[in-house]
Formats: sequence, C-alpha cells, structure tokens
Amino acid sequence: MSCDLTLLANKGIRSLHPYQPGKPVSELERELGISNIVKLASNENPLGCSHLAIEAMQAEMNEIARYPDANGYYLKEAICKKLAINMDQITLGNGSNDVLNLIARTFAGPGSEVMFSQHAFVVYPIAAKAVEADAVVVPAKNYAHDLEAMGDAITDKTRLIFIANPNNPTGTCETADSLRAFMQRVPEDVIVVMDEAYYEYVDDADYPQTINWLKQFSNMIITRTFSKAYGLAGARMGYSISHEEIAGLLNRVREPFNVNSFAMAGATAALKDVDFLKQAVSLNRRGMDYLTKELDDMGFAYIPSKGNFLTVDMNTDAAAIYEKLLHQGVIVRPVANYEMPNHLRVSIGLMEENQRFISALQKVTGR
Ligand SMILES: *Cc1c(COP(=O)(O)O)cnc(C)c1O
Repeated sequence: MSCDLTLLANKGIRSLHPYQPGKPVSELERELGISNIVKLASNENPLGCSHLAIEAMQAEMNEIARYPDANGYYLKEAICKKLAINMDQITLGNGSNDVLNLIARTFAGPGSEVMFSQHAFVVYPIAAKAVEADAVVVPAKNYAHDLEAMGDAITDKTRLIFIANPNNPTGTCETADSLRAFMQRVPEDVIVVMDEAYYEYVDDADYPQTINWLKQFSNMIITRTFSKAYGLAGARMGYSISHEEIAGLLNRVREPFNVNSFAMAGATAALKDVDFLKQAVSLNRRGMDYLTKELDDMGFAYIPSKGNFLTVDMNTDAAAIYEKLLHQGVIVRPVANYEMPNHLRVSIGLMEENQRFISALQKVTGR
C-alpha cells in the first residue's frame, strides 16, 4: 500500500505539531547517570496533593468495576457550595484541557475564527485547528494580552476568544477593569473563555472575580483546574462555569464518562482541605520571592508572574542553557514554541528545589 496516511487526516490536524513531552525523570536519571533530578517543568504542585484526596482515591478503588457517575453529582455539589453557583452551570472535564476542546468543538468550526494572544497557552491553537477553525493570533504587549488590539481584531467570523488569566507561560495577569472593558466590547454572540488555571495563586485586589460577571456576560465561560494548586495533575480534573444553556451545549458534546471516578473522588475531597491549599499558596509565594531576589542579584530579567512559575530571559538562545541545566539535574521548560526562544520557564518548587535551580543556573551561566 502506498497511500500517504497523513493525507487522510483533515486539514486542521495536518497543520498541527504533536505536544513534545519530556522523558520520564527515571529514564533521564539513567541516561545522564545522575540521581536526584529536580523537575520544575510542568507547574505541578511540589507539595503533592491533600492527604484527604489520596484517601478518597484509595477508597474509590473498591468501586473500580463500576462506571463513574456521568453527572459528577458529588463533585459538582462540592464546587457549588464553595463558589455559590448552580450545579447546572458546571461542565466537568478530563483536565480543563478537555473542556477547552469541548468549547472549541461546540462553538467553532471550518470558516470561523478563534482568537488568542501571542505567547498564550499552547492548547488554544490545537483546539482551534483540530476543528478546522482559523487561529487568529494577536501580538502581545509586554508579553501580556493586548486587549485593545484583540477587541479591534474581532470580525463577524470570530466565534471564540481564549484568554488565560494568569497566562502560561508568561505569568501575566489582566486586571478587572481592563477585562471588563474588553468584555463590554465583545459582541454577545462571541464566546470568551477565561482560563483561570492559576486562580488560587492570585491575591491581587484588582484580579477579576469573573464568576460575578456571568449574569452580565452570558457569553463568558470560566475554566478552572485541579491540576495546579490542588496538586491533582495526574488525576486529570478540570471544569468550566458558565451560563446554564452553555453548560447544556457542552454537555451534549462531552463524552458521558470523560472524567474517571478517582479524579472526581480526589477532587471532591481536595476541596475540603482548605489548609493544604493555603500551604501550597504560601510556599509558592515564598519561592517566588526567593527566586526573583536571586535572579535580580544575578542580573537576569524575568516576566513578573502571578502563577506558580517564572519565565526568565536568558539573554541568549536558551536551548543550550536548558541542556546544561539538565546535566545538572534540573529540568525546566524551554518556551521557544511560544515564540520566546531566549526564555526558560521554571516552576516554583520546594525551597530546596528552588535553591538547586539557582545554584545550577549560577554554575552553567557563570553569573
Ligand atoms: C496547566 C494549565 C491548564 C490546566 O490544564 P489541565 O488540563 O487542567 O491539567 C489550563 N490552562 C493553562 C493556561 C494552564 O497553564
């Protein structure tokens, strides 16, 4: 058979590049002949997750023969209690990534435009192209969203706008005032996704509490995740909050069993552990203070970040520094695929991990 199988895929899929996963830590340790590798590459929670979540997931093991609850009743109930919203406003996903894709499948398609910022989260172009929509990338301003330019770029083909707040990998955050002004410009028939994966880490007074805006802007969808501050990245659990009718539409597209029983049990329990969340946020703040001070002392510029990571300007092609850090046993994230070839993104870790990163960086750059 000589048929080119690539040509069988639809056009949007052919234009995609697969996600480049890192090697497992144990494999890297074997290859490099080192131990004690520190992974600061995926914005995971260095504290792990709440012990309540672990216990709930272990207990769930006894029910493994059963399908999960397709409606996610107990988790939705727990989320509603915390956020004072209604259960029918929630759509659960296999990570918020899943929800972002559901949104694209529901509202965009061939001939429509999906807009997001330069340097924005990688999932947005994938979600757009997978449904054969045109991705419209608006140049960033100081690495942040240029909301005015995004407003100007709306056309009658625009169906969907993704905004990550804070954004990954830049860590930049838009204020309530600027986002509200933007929302007021967006036509009612254009869906705006507020991706709030790092919501729990932000404590700025001018950070928008977008849930309060849903009554005014029924075209807005908020996404949140258990992957970051709650430390459940491996469980894959995210959700959106929206107008009931939007949630109803997303639920038509959603696979009934897209979320597994462990993830739901773990997330439901994690919501109860307020102390764990506080600890995680406080550790992150201390780590951020430490890293920014050390980088200041070394003369490195970085993008001020509201998330659990910091993106640092290496002032030269960062690929070589990334490799050298790897050989020092420190894995960070190159962000050349975000049009930032000189930057490296480092996740905030435990204090000793942050120190490992700093001393490795000193060693490989001589600063
Ligand atoms: C990590 C991250 C997510 C969360 O992804 P999950 O699929 O929930 O693990 C979503 N958006 C942004 C901007 C992120 O950085």
